[in-house]
Amino acid sequence: MHSFSQASPKLWEIGIRTLMISVDDVKLERLGELKGLDLMLDSGGFRRLSRGRELEPEEVLRAQIEIVEETGALPVILDYPPRSPEEVGGSIKRTAKNLKLWQRAFGDRFVYVVHGSKEEHFREAMSYLSSKPEAVALGGVAFKSRNKPKEVLDFLKSLRGLWDGKLHALGVGNSLALAAFMLGLADSADTSGYLTDASFRMIRDPESMGLIKVEEGQRCWCEACKGAEVGKRGREGLIARARHNAYWLMRALESEELALSMIGRRPSLRRAALPSLRRRAGRPAL
Ligand SMILES: [Zn+2]
Repeated sequence: MHSFSQASPKLWEIGIRTLMISVDDVKLERLGELKGLDLMLDSGGFRRLSRGRELEPEEVLRAQIEIVEETGALPVILDYPPRSPEEVGGSIKRTAKNLKLWQRAFGDRFVYVVHGSKEEHFREAMSYLSSKPEAVALGGVAFKSRNKPKEVLDFLKSLRGLWDGKLHALGVGNSLALAAFMLGLADSADTSGYLTDASFRMIRDPESMGLIKVEEGQRCWCEACKGAEVGKRGREGLIARARHNAYWLMRALESEELALSMIGRRPSLRRAALPSLRRRAGRPAL
């Protein structure tokens, strides 16, 4: 997840080529920085809702059309995250009402969002589709991903039988995103975990992939930091730590060994994902 307004590192400088950006945060004059990158463009529905302001679909759509024309980003439909489990049904229906507008503007080249974390929610949301969108994003897995990551993996597994297109996991934690990827259960996922960890003054240890607290003035000599002061107070240190964390998350995506040591730190994920990952890696199952 790249943000224009928060203290956010320039992730493309460390080799990350795919980014999620959000319509309500985009600075049009700085879009040029993202040239050549693969972008997904969120509607900002979740962020505005949490600030207590509802959005008009036409307003979001106009902004998205402009940014898509400029960058080729893949737009995400305006969705309405439920604030409680009772609201899931209503939020699925309200999101589906925006389908016509998004299809008229983008054809099938957009991401449909499904809320809820049960198969029946998914089936209902998909029943409103008249044609196949480029990808389906799951909004309901975000709050479960922290406490019940195994349930999220099981849910993803069950969806693979219902939808043969691309699946995206919206706003999940680092290790769950990694596990979903490594197991082939999600085609993409976005996370701000690397930034959240950085804001708690934590960085990932490249050897063990565990999180360690930085000390004041500490420097890091990894490939991404090259001596940057990750222990510095204020915005500069935060960006240095976020950059370090994002870099090692990306490396873990490319290396089964790093991924195993990172996923293995979460007990429920370890039980759910490690046996199959070890089989994939050609090692005996636990
Ligand atoms: Zn570093």
